[in-house]
Amino acid sequence: MTRPNTTSPLSPQQLSNSPVSTAPALQLDHVSRVHRDGPTTVTALDDVSLIVEPGELVAVMGPSGSGKSTLLNIAGTLDSPTSGTVRIGGVDVSALSATRRAEVRRRHVGYVFQDYNLIPTLTVAENITLPLELDHVGRRTARRRALAALAELGLEDLADRFPAEVSGGQAQRIAIARGLIGDRHLILADEPTGALDSVTAESVLDLLRSRIRDGAAGLLVTHEPRFAAVADRTVHLRDGAVLGGA
Ligand code: ADP
Ligand code: MG
Repeated sequence: MTRPNTTSPLSPQQLSNSPVSTAPALQLDHVSRVHRDGPTTVTALDDVSLIVEPGELVAVMGPSGSGKSTLLNIAGTLDSPTSGTVRIGGVDVSALSATRRAEVRRRHVGYVFQDYNLIPTLTVAENITLPLELDHVGRRTARRRALAALAELGLEDLADRFPAEVSGGQAQRIAIARGLIGDRHLILADEPTGALDSVTAESVLDLLRSRIRDGAAGLLVTHEPRFAAVADRTVHLRDGAVLGGA
């Protein structure tokens, strides 16, 4: 499948919905992230190298403060490394302008935030379609995709409610619907099941697994070993570093 590609520097082969490229979906090489706060520095990530292939789900585990969210933010281009390189579909994202990076993120990365990040003034459906509309997907197509994503999670009745009108568990599933909508190549989920009962959590993880089976790559941050067990492998972080190599 090809599409007119006048603005993106990324070739359709590299980032189409059925990649021809054999590049890893995500490749981090010697990525470090140091926060400086006056005289003190915090090394949130310390020389992390990681490859995630299309069709692969990698669990990320580690104690609070070990760098899990920083790893996801950098993989999703919401944050930039202090050193090292990040490639998505073989493309070095640090070489792109901020605008192009945001475009790559909207089109190719599905992000499920730990704290949901729903916009209170938009309806549930509008929260889900916002990134699609920014990318000029027609309003009706976007709405149809949002309803399909909600239906997969049994939430279609909530489409026209506002975030304040749904429960915590529903808000978490709405955030998941947003992360999984469309054909994402890279799905980044930061503790996506924290507010869910175990039956709902398992159905969400089944849905994530089916996206991975369809060819997406995923990083799943979780505290629960039984959830990590659905992943193909697990990366353990401690003080920002990968234990035992990636
Ligand atoms: P986790 O998600 O595993 O709990 P984080 O990635 O959120 O860990 O944080 C890793 C480390 O980086 C922690 O020590 C945290 O305090 C620090 N950190 C994260 N963001 C910032 C920031 N913006 N400024 C300073 N320190 C930060
Ligand atoms: Mg975190």
